[in-house]
Amino acid sequence: MIKQKKQGQLIVISGPSGSGKDTIVGKVLENNDKIWLSVSATSRAPRKGEEEGVNYFYLTREEFEEKIENNYFLEYAEYAGNYYGTPKEKIVEKLDKGYDVILVIEIQGARKIKELIPEALFIFIMPPSEKELLKRLANRKTEDTEKILERFNVAYKEMNEVTKYNYVVVNDKLEDAVEKVESIIKAEKCRVDRIEEVLVANKEEIIHEFLMNEEFDNTRTKDKLEEDNETKTK
Ligand code: ADP
Ligand code: 5GP
Repeated sequence: MIKQKKQGQLIVISGPSGSGKDTIVGKVLENNDKIWLSVSATSRAPRKGEEEGVNYFYLTREEFEEKIENNYFLEYAEYAGNYYGTPKEKIVEKLDKGYDVILVIEIQGARKIKELIPEALFIFIMPPSEKELLKRLANRKTEDTEKILERFNVAYKEMNEVTKYNYVVVNDKLEDAVEKVESIIKAEKCRVDRIEEVLVANKEEIIHEFLMNEEFDNTRTKDKLEEDNETKTK
């Protein structure tokens, strides 16, 4: 009856540092093999346990600036003293192959994507409270106190952006947040603007085929039907 777009959906996930974006997206990827995570480039140093090409592509500031010049990024931003950017190259290819593509990016980058691709899906991950956010930033043990406070200050401003997104998910219990993000992605697939074509079959042909089917008694009248039903209930 309908043909839906084969092309994947571009999904932008933002929210303050420490709200749980990477943790949630990690789980969503484990559960869905038709979702592809875009790996960003950054000029920040790798954290313990992070890997080149898995968490980020690590560049020097100079290398990053050269790539900006060469129009390598779909969007980029400076955040807490470092550059972060989304490489363009693989995104269109993955979308065309039917993969949903997730970008986990901060607010300025999300704004840029909204300008470029307004039909993308924008999800904001919110911490349950400011106190909990600070606690999670500290427990992650990836930044020193100065950097934690810098991120917390940025987070305060970022939280005001929430109303510009399509959806907000409060990350209180992790499993609930993951389920909500997955449900939002599923629901988006059913939007009517993802219909490419409405295929109208030939009505007469369908009726003819139905009446000619041997299993169907096409001599059936209302009286005969009632009679049959009465015999059945006796
Ligand atoms: P972001 O990617 O938004 O910066 P992370 O995914 O790194 O945030 O999460 C920040 C810290 O909070 C991590 O140590 C992570 O394990 C923890 N965390 C994430 N979600 C939850 C949750 N629902 N409850 C408790 N801790 C969480
Ligand atoms: P972190 O240093 O914690 O890995 O990332 C800091 C912030 O930069 C996070 O909000 C993260 O989502 C964001 N970020 C990661 N990659 C990109 C990107 O390619 N572009 C933009 N604009 N932000 C990004």
